[in-house]
Amino acid sequence: MRNVAVFGATGSIGGSTLDVIARHPQRFRASVLAAHRASGALAALCERFAPDLAIIADPALEADLRARLIRAGLATRVASGPAALAEAAASPLCDTVVAAIVGAAGLESTLAAARAGKRLLLANKEAIVMAGPLLLAALRDGGGELLPVDSEHNALFQALPPAAATRRAALAASGVRKLILTASGGPFRGRSRADLARITPEQAVAHPNWRMGRKISVDSATLMNKGLEVIEAHFLFDAAPEAIDVVVHPQSIVHSLVEYADGSVLAQLGNPDMRTALAYGLAWPERVEAGVPALDLVALARLDFQPPDLDTFRCLALAYAALRQGGTAPAILNAANEIAVAAFLDGQLPFLAIAEVIEACLEQIPAEPVTDLAQLIQTDLTARAAAQRMMRRLHC
Ligand code: NAD
Ligand code: MG
Repeated sequence: MRNVAVFGATGSIGGSTLDVIARHPQRFRASVLAAHRASGALAALCERFAPDLAIIADPALEADLRARLIRAGLATRVASGPAALAEAAASPLCDTVVAAIVGAAGLESTLAAARAGKRLLLANKEAIVMAGPLLLAALRDGGGELLPVDSEHNALFQALPPAAATRRAALAASGVRKLILTASGGPFRGRSRADLARITPEQAVAHPNWRMGRKISVDSATLMNKGLEVIEAHFLFDAAPEAIDVVVHPQSIVHSLVEYADGSVLAQLGNPDMRTALAYGLAWPERVEAGVPALDLVALARLDFQPPDLDTFRCLALAYAALRQGGTAPAILNAANEIAVAAFLDGQLPFLAIAEVIEACLEQIPAEPVTDLAQLIQTDLTARAAAQRMMRRLHC
């Protein structure tokens, strides 16, 4: 029996994880559930899954959550605050941690799970973008295993030889020439910059193929999601920026591909449903039913591929630039993006200005080699403050 902590249980990835867990009560148990502020939704999940521990990140809601669980007659213990997340990640309550908190808020619990040697199912790409070298060191020290559940990286993990997928062998030594990430292109694929000037948050979060949280939906619309994923692939598989390509594939059926020296290209295909990657991560190296309908190739009939438009969707180019710069540059990129996307979703920043804010932050804040967590947290705060200043100057 695998005891699974689901951080971000009330979100899109959290819901898909719990759906897979519920299909296999003899294999998986949700032992810890955590959310930010949605105490009602978290209490409802506790009634369904009866975890040992429920964590609400906002301490102001701890009493509310406790009252709900008592009313429901549950024995689930309650904790609150960011430290409780890291503590639970490292505790014997779980052997597996699903890191599905959105943004930098997930970093410390993700690192704690890695350090404690857990099986880490990583959805929280912002954590590895910010702190790739620290997360890799924590995994080495802890002796745990990282299973990528971002669909592209899960596809790469499946299409790579096992030693290369887990960084035990170099890509070149395994005959790998390129990692090719697919991108749906988001809701604005094919549009020009002029078309994008007056995009509203509701248009931006209406993704054609995936139902996801609001922040990653905007990232998909700007192509920053693919930029973050290029950086994620670099750290996960020790791939040079030149060895990571992006191709737009509007149907989101081919989740990514590995190109080998002999001309072979191995891809992983499936319907766009995150339960496939989550079931893979939970059951690995076995495979279990995930509730995902079989792929009907004849009904699909065609798969299209196009180059990304880096002039219109500048965030992808900015992410490559931050990766090449290295050190703390990806953390600066991520923090500036989080602030700009939140302002856009709030109606405070035009869609096209998201890239301007990020570019200005990358220019203004010098990147340094990564040393420790305190440095990265400080960099994150500095970049957030710079992004706020930039937004006031640019548009408010
Ligand atoms: P979401 O907005 O639907 O859910 C986010 C979850 O995180 C919620 O449960 C929320 O309560 C929790 N949360 C937010 N802030 C928190 C905080 N400060 N402390 C503790 N918990 C907090 O987001 P999502 O779409 O599920 O995405 C989650 C992560 O997975 C993101 O990093 C995203 O990039 C990644 N991801 C998502 C998908 C997808 O299909 N949704 C695919 C690949 C990767
Ligand atoms: Mg993805």
